[in-house]
Amino acid sequence: MISFSSFPMREELIRAISDLGFETPTPIQQKVIPQLLSEPIDIIGLAQTGTGKTAAYGLPLLHHVDVAQKHVQCLVLSPTRELCMQIQEEMTKYGAHMRGLRITAVYGGVSITGQIKDVRANPQIIVATPGRLIDLLERKALSLEHVQFVVLDEADEMLNMGFREDIDIILKNTPEREHTWLFSATMSNEVRGIAKRFMKDWKEFASGAANITNENIDHQYFVANHHNRFETLRRLLDFNPGIYGIIFTRTKQDCQEVSEKLMKMGYHVSPLHGDMDQKMRSKVMDRFKAKQLQCIVATDVAARGIDVNDITHVINYELPDDPEVYTHRSGRTARAGKSGICMSIVSPKQISNIRQIERLVKQKFNKSDIPDGSEVVRKRLFFYMEQIASAEPKADFAKLYKDMMHEQFAEMDKDELIRKLIWLQLKETIDAYQEADDLNAGFEGKDRDRGTRGSRYTRLFINLGEKDGLNNQKLLAFIAESTDIDPNTIERMTVRDMSSFFNVPGEAATFIIDQLSNKKFKGRKVRLEEADQPPMGGGSRGESGGRPRPSSGPRFAGGEGRSFGGGRDRDGGGRDGGREASRESSYKGGGRKRY
Ligand code: AMP
Repeated sequence: MISFSSFPMREELIRAISDLGFETPTPIQQKVIPQLLSEPIDIIGLAQTGTGKTAAYGLPLLHHVDVAQKHVQCLVLSPTRELCMQIQEEMTKYGAHMRGLRITAVYGGVSITGQIKDVRANPQIIVATPGRLIDLLERKALSLEHVQFVVLDEADEMLNMGFREDIDIILKNTPEREHTWLFSATMSNEVRGIAKRFMKDWKEFASGAANITNENIDHQYFVANHHNRFETLRRLLDFNPGIYGIIFTRTKQDCQEVSEKLMKMGYHVSPLHGDMDQKMRSKVMDRFKAKQLQCIVATDVAARGIDVNDITHVINYELPDDPEVYTHRSGRTARAGKSGICMSIVSPKQISNIRQIERLVKQKFNKSDIPDGSEVVRKRLFFYMEQIASAEPKADFAKLYKDMMHEQFAEMDKDELIRKLIWLQLKETIDAYQEADDLNAGFEGKDRDRGTRGSRYTRLFINLGEKDGLNNQKLLAFIAESTDIDPNTIERMTVRDMSSFFNVPGEAATFIIDQLSNKKFKGRKVRLEEADQPPMGGGSRGESGGRPRPSSGPRFAGGEGRSFGGGRDRDGGGRDGGREASRESSYKGGGRKRY
């Protein structure tokens, strides 16, 4: 196995990598680093965020930089402020043991005065957004005269944001540039155009599409009619109590509206879009990183700056126009070897778009049921019970009050105490979901107990669930492997803690039950039977279920109660902020349709 220490790299860098706990270079790093260390030719790296691309170019840059020389030797261009800050932060960690190293980041949306001072302090490396860099060049605050290395990070995104001319100007102003390294998630003619204009005999390296086909991502979709989109989102949030995620909207307006509605209902969320000023965006990111927010509601451009490794869910409130954008979104979860779930809310018409994305990511998407009210309540009940079970109160907690508490509850038996405690915690959820509709498209307003597709499908119950390490994808794989049944015929899978449900064509039900009933899963005997529920998946296996209709009452304590209002770049945004905003608004009109 290749290790970082086998790279012929400055000892200070090897030490920093070891401090950071990086063990193995990622695929793009394995390909690019040895090349750029030994022979720093021009290269194109096809890699998305999350693949380790910053270190792939950052370590060789730091290796070649001469700290004794006090002038700008390396320039990294990146599309957004957030990315600039991340790159600077990341490279500063890699260069932590290099004495005399100075890395400065400059970007739009904040006052230029402080940045003028920073660039005059003779950094060896500058990380910049193109617009702000040109502002600084025009003010003669810095010179690119001695720049030898230029990195274009997320080149496709810079072009999408309209920075082409700026990039041209900047590259033309680097007379001593010897090496140009271009990184891009996608390869378009425009990206190639830059390479042709400014690069010599370049070599191409791909990350091995790590984020495009990431088997750790469970892709799920939920079919709801347009008018139920928001309710569906709420239900998915309620059904996933430990969620730490990003909800993607297509437009800034949707982003603002959806998050405001959720906030009013008491969810811990916040919007993140290009119309928010930079300070506001940083504040949101800080709160998200500190886990004070359960979700961020974001547009695609704003979300580029989110660099968090333990995101559990990505929710597409609406699918993007471009299937490739889907892969950027889903790649926000299941990073650094973890697993994650990407959920998409789609209208019946958009199912064909899902098929197209399936082909791109080379993975089957699971059509999942929008959970009904009783399932939400059950899920939250389990979650709460687990929280109680795993709570570790401080040893001396309640010492003072022990007698008093016991006295207060002396007359109450355990059963009553438990019921009261759980009721207190869950009553809002229970009330909210008492009368909830079936949101699955095609089933709204229909009487579940009669069912409409009942004759064609049979709903099966299986005694395996999340506790067995299963999710939709893994259960589907297990069923398909054990029975040879075409996974496409299995529908509306609902994985619960200890059991799951799914629909199969009526004529296949007995065969599947026979095939699976003798099997074992991780040593546990599999039990499979026809569910009490009707095939559309609504029923409630003997619970009081009913048809919950969520009220607008708060679901989580202490809602944010605060909205983040409009006004763009109040700090004096400059070119970059405006560019980002104008690109986002192009999505409003449907943008580039590729389906
Ligand atoms: P990037 O694709 O550059 O945005 O990197 C994504 C994340 O992976 C960052 O948080 C890096 O610190 C981390 N990372 C980069 N390379 C490695 C590695 N070889 N091993 C573990 N983590 C890494």
